[in-house]
Amino acid sequence: MISLLNDIYKVGKLYFEKEQLNELDSLLDVKNNINKVLLVNIIEKNGKYSYNKIIIEDFDLKKVKKYLYKKGSSRGTDMTPSCLIIDPEKTFNIKFLKWFEKNKDDDKFYNKIKDCIINNKDQILQDLKKSYDELAGDDVKNKNTLLTLLITNENEDDKYIGDYDYFINNLKDKSEEKFYKQKSKNIKGEGNCLLCGENKEVYGLVSNNVGFSFSTPEKLGNVSNGDIKNQWKTVPICGKPARKK
Ligand SMILES: [Zn+2]
Repeated sequence: MISLLNDIYKVGKLYFEKEQLNELDSLLDVKNNINKVLLVNIIEKNGKYSYNKIIIEDFDLKKVKKYLYKKGSSRGTDMTPSCLIIDPEKTFNIKFLKWFEKNKDDDKFYNKIKDCIINNKDQILQDLKKSYDELAGDDVKNKNTLLTLLITNENEDDKYIGDYDYFINNLKDKSEEKFYKQKSKNIKGEGNCLLCGENKEVYGLVSNNVGFSFSTPEKLGNVSNGDIKNQWKTVPICGKPARKK
């Protein structure tokens, strides 16, 4: 029993240390070698969103939280719509546009942005290729170019995706999936968190993901009813200590 409590203490310590690191800052990929940013500019007027043009701006390290760039899997999309341009057409289709096509949600604001991009995809791609070609004379070949969104409202400051709670929370949710998702299984449920004691949604793969495995889904002996899906009952740890207000 003492050794189990000791294990839980170690997991907790590691987890909270890691979660603190997981604040937005460390969720983002900061790239010093990004040179230019291509912005798909959308104009908002009276709650309506329309595509305007591609804007080129210099990369600004101070805007990292606004660009909200976080690399995803090499074959899939990135964690947010922001992506690095390898080839304008491929990057637009496989990363940027695909992010919106894959990310389904009933959020009203999000769907207006999504519809605007999908409905204007041909025009956006055409403009994007042109803007990227304009950069070609620059040292664009040796430097990365970021593609992201800029939303303009004549009565407000321009907004990047990182200025919207929707995109920030979406990134945080996606980053948390590793704490409960294994293949197509959701290893989570409602229970008492081992670490904070609160009754809330608890995840089963936290201990594995802080590099500590006194209980892995493979060791079925540890799992209630011998089913991986029940691992959250054995090691119930909530996923949101960093999000406590
Ligand atoms: Zn907790």
